[in-house]
Amino acid sequence: MTASPTPSTELTGWRHVYSGKVRDLYVPAGTPEGAEPERMLVVASDRVSAFDHVLSPGIPGKGELLTTLSLWWFDQLAGADGGRGIPNHLTASHTLGLGADGEANTADDLESLIPDAVVGRAMVVKSLDMLPIECVVRGYLTGSGWAEYQAGGTVCGIPLPAGLRNGDRLPEPIYTPAYKAPMGEHDENISYERTVELVGAERAAELRDLSLEIYTRASRTAEAHGVILADTKFEFGLDENGVLTLADEVLTSDSSRYWDAAAWASGTTEDERMASFDKQIVRNWLAANWAPPREGEPPALPADIVERTAARYRELLELLTSSAAR
Ligand code: ATP
Ligand code: MG
Repeated sequence: MTASPTPSTELTGWRHVYSGKVRDLYVPAGTPEGAEPERMLVVASDRVSAFDHVLSPGIPGKGELLTTLSLWWFDQLAGADGGRGIPNHLTASHTLGLGADGEANTADDLESLIPDAVVGRAMVVKSLDMLPIECVVRGYLTGSGWAEYQAGGTVCGIPLPAGLRNGDRLPEPIYTPAYKAPMGEHDENISYERTVELVGAERAAELRDLSLEIYTRASRTAEAHGVILADTKFEFGLDENGVLTLADEVLTSDSSRYWDAAAWASGTTEDERMASFDKQIVRNWLAANWAPPREGEPPALPADIVERTAARYRELLELLTSSAAR
């Protein structure tokens, strides 16, 4: 892991090892330099990024909302939605082995590992051997997929029927993997065949099938709450037994595009149909206020863009986790 480009909080009991654009990673303070830790602390900040730049100011409450959403989805996918349990990187007390006395740890032990300063926006996870693939699933046509489709009728090389509009539902969800570039480089769309070269045929198929399965389950859950899951990205790693394990954040509005289902069905303009619950507000504002090639320092986000984005994040969490299905 590379050194952090971003200043991060000192946390008792943990040593900072890495910061992505949005999250900060820590290992237990006692971990020898260069050794593989058993677990890690993933802290979601309020930072927001668009076009690969971290913007200023952050979105108040975003780290907590996204962590809450991730934890909720991990729970759904562990079986709360009625489906089979998908292994994930959250630590369970019995796998931690923290107790000096060798006794099983309790949930309280877990809580106590999360320092006060980051409670609510941090997760203790198993440190996995991460696969260098971003497993993208798209159920709807938009974004870079729409641009490619307009140019040649394909998305990531996958041919699609003619006559689709921006925001249309695809005949079936498609798996469009990307190579997870090292820090500071752009992720790059790759073919399925390339994923076979990277991780082997069996693992590549497993990644694809699991990604499609999770997308299908999650979009069914989202739709029951009036929300469309247009597309999303998963990351997986291997645990100490080589088990493929769902990692990173999952189905958050940073890793997914969510739209209001009612607006999608009744809207006439693109903006109405794709009324987004993610940082689209920020992306749109930046696109209009910062001309390509978008290098150097991005312009500061205006207060109303920050507030509207925060409200949109809150709205999504409320919709999805409310017990009343729509
Ligand atoms: P970007 O800002 O483009 O997302 P990034 O992916 O490097 O860049 P973050 O997503 O903020 O940055 O950082 C989280 C990092 O932690 C990622 O590199 C992710 O692959 C890694 N990660 C997530 N879960 C685990 C895990 N259980 N074990 C090891 N690494 C993990
Ligand atoms: Mg990431």
